Amino acid sequence: MKVLKFGGTSVGSAEAMEQVKSIVKSYTDQNKSLTVISSAMSGITNLLVEMGTKAAHNDETYKTHLLEIEEKHFTATKILISVREQGKTLAKLKKLLNELEDLMHGVFLLRELSPRTMDLLLSFGERMSCTLLADYFIQEGISTEFIDARNLVITDDQFGRARIDRNTTNHNIRKYLSAKEVVYVVTGFISSTAKGETTTLGRGGSDYTASIFGAALDAEEIEIWTDVDGVMTADPRKVKKAFSLKELSYEEAMEMSHFGAKVIYPPTLQPAFHNKIPLRIRNTFNNDFEGTLIHERTTPGDYTIKGISSIEQISLINLQGSGMVGVPGVSSRLFSALAREEINVVLITQASSEHSICFALDPKDAFRAKETIEEVFALEIQAGKIDRVVIENDLSIVAIIGENMRNTPGIAGKMFEAFGKNGINISAIAQGSSELNVSVVIHQYDLAKTLNTLHEVFFLSDIKTLNVFLVGTGLIGGTLLKQISEHNTSLKEEQALKINITGLSNSRKMAFSTDGLDIDQWKNILDSSEQKADMAGFVKQMKALNLSNSVFLDCTSSDHVVGFYKEILDRRISIATPNKLASSGEYDLYRTLKDTAVRNGIKFLFETNVGAGLPVINTLRDLLNSGDKILKIEGVLSGTLSYIFNNFQKGTRFSDIVKGAQERGFTEPDPRDDLNGMDMARKILILTREAGYKIELSEIDIEMLLPDTCMKAESIDAFFEELEKENDHFDKLLEKAENEGKRLRFIAKMENGKARIVLEAVDLENPFYALSGSDNMISITTSRYLERPLVVKGPGAGAEVTAAGVFAEIVSLSHFLG
Ligand code: ADP
Ligand code: ASP
Ligand code: MG
Repeated sequence: MKVLKFGGTSVGSAEAMEQVKSIVKSYTDQNKSLTVISSAMSGITNLLVEMGTKAAHNDETYKTHLLEIEEKHFTATKILISVREQGKTLAKLKKLLNELEDLMHGVFLLRELSPRTMDLLLSFGERMSCTLLADYFIQEGISTEFIDARNLVITDDQFGRARIDRNTTNHNIRKYLSAKEVVYVVTGFISSTAKGETTTLGRGGSDYTASIFGAALDAEEIEIWTDVDGVMTADPRKVKKAFSLKELSYEEAMEMSHFGAKVIYPPTLQPAFHNKIPLRIRNTFNNDFEGTLIHERTTPGDYTIKGISSIEQISLINLQGSGMVGVPGVSSRLFSALAREEINVVLITQASSEHSICFALDPKDAFRAKETIEEVFALEIQAGKIDRVVIENDLSIVAIIGENMRNTPGIAGKMFEAFGKNGINISAIAQGSSELNVSVVIHQYDLAKTLNTLHEVFFLSDIKTLNVFLVGTGLIGGTLLKQISEHNTSLKEEQALKINITGLSNSRKMAFSTDGLDIDQWKNILDSSEQKADMAGFVKQMKALNLSNSVFLDCTSSDHVVGFYKEILDRRISIATPNKLASSGEYDLYRTLKDTAVRNGIKFLFETNVGAGLPVINTLRDLLNSGDKILKIEGVLSGTLSYIFNNFQKGTRFSDIVKGAQERGFTEPDPRDDLNGMDMARKILILTREAGYKIELSEIDIEMLLPDTCMKAESIDAFFEELEKENDHFDKLLEKAENEGKRLRFIAKMENGKARIVLEAVDLENPFYALSGSDNMISITTSRYLERPLVVKGPGAGAEVTAAGVFAEIVSLSHFLG
């Protein structure tokens, strides 16, 4: 004997009921004896609640709901049952609808809807769906008997969530369901008191009905047919990457459902567990899926946890005060009082100091709980031994569940580390003593982010997604987008990493997509976007989306964007940027941003600020982190100046070299913007700061290469005229250097926290001597690299290498965020 339960969506339409019939038939064809439990058609129970509430508020529009309910059942009947037969079914349904109408009229007149009337009202949903389903089965040649569960399932009179009288119910079920050759179609969810008043088993209670029948009939298996592929690692509506589980133990399933996995109604597990009857959760709309098996013994799975559940709406009550320390019986008084009031406590934590007790409960019970506590502890509160009782709202609970956790250390650590990296604040933590779950209370607005973060952390074999918010689609931004597009496939295959461009903005437009914008179409997407670019709006939207693994990329050179860095880091979103303005601006800003990142456990990355894609800043940090001492940094940090001095050799004229560089596009449009040394100064400033010194740009000593006559000339042409007059001066410098076997190099230097930029003649021994082309070179002298400094050399400018540097930072962030 099998018990099959079909949920609301499984009987939500004529097509769905056809599906149900095929499933049932496939069993009866094999002569399997079956009991079928069914919910109301999807949406009907909610509609009944709404209708009753309206009528009780004397709102006549409840009648439209009545019509809606009639329409839904009649439409399905007309599709499923032949014209000749349907009259009988329609008449049965009409009789129920008339009864319902009378009941509603009464509620409307009395303006009252007691829990007792509500239960009677709700019973119509299951009574109608099962009436239709039974008649349909009969027409399809399945020998069927309709059963109103109210005649068998006997409960107390706690309306809305009645408790079963197990003995009487079992006895009734065994007595009435004895014929093996018929399929019983039983109304889920509804029951009655011994006196015959209608009760219900709580929302979602049809699952429970199935389990009660399964246990009473000693079924070989109870199949719960629903609209998803069984129990999944998380609610698929909230976590897109959730996947189906093959099996769960009763305890694991109990924890999952207790913490909100709606796919099974929590009390369901108990009767099945007690009688050791396996439950199988199957998908009415995907018969190929063989189901999630819930049974006694499970094999350890591939992951340390089985699943993640959540309860969206929760309140937290905190009870604290010196009067609680060391006084026995406080918690027992507290929880007995709550139990008396039938207030369900979802989670409890108590500080080891015994100074406070904190517990989570359904928000609808919060106020009543507060009143109860204030009553029970009135004397202590009056004496100041217990402080005020505080309710905190708008919270959610998230729990990770699985038996493997018992033997695996470090689970909570992994969980909290991920929370820290994603800026998720925890209000309370509890671990079940069975070590089957760790649950945390968080702000409701962090729920989606928390679920997705945990899912990525614990089901690692899955591909990790990084949500990139990119502003600036100029040369570097555009190149970066191209590079990401070219490498996304290999990243996925080799690093299990997917980079989503979740938000994108240029100076005119911006666009967002939580699934990631089509990266190859970014130009069209921005052009056709309705959203005008607005940095404040961009940041606001990025914060509101509140996605896990978010990174902000600033590919502009704008001061305005830098103005938002602090706010972004404070929201615990990491930043990576080739924009130098923050790291080389006022020291206070630099310090604040770095400290904010550290405090929030995230990253503020700007490796490409010095030497583009060359690993300069990271190398410096690695040296410092490993305990080395930075004694001296020297560098040719400008590709332009490197090019000019590498090419200025005997037989050439300095002004021609500068002109040539300008014509090849190696300089800024006005070459003085390179020759003034400011770009080099900003870079050595950053390195000096990274080496641990406090320094401002104005403190850097820059040797002027050219006199004011050149630097202040009115136009670029006038500048070149003036520059020609300097050729003799440069010739002399060059000649002197060459006579001494040296070469001229414009070098930034840092020693003891002091930075300067000088034109220097270097000899063969010096690493800068052999510099060629437009390469950058940085030489770092440390306690360990004392005799021969550590040298980094290579192209230090250009969109490709800079974008590649930013790209590398994004990938490094993905490892960090994990
Ligand atoms: P039914 O009407 O068949 O009883 P429910 O709506 O009560 O169906 O339960 C199924 C729903 O439970 C799914 O559609 C899904 O959104 C939700 N759900 C929540 N957590 C989980 C989970 N871990 N696995 C599967 N479904 C889940
Ligand atoms: N129809 C009821 C509800 O919607 C019971 C159930 O579907 O399990 O809550
Ligand atoms: Mg359900």
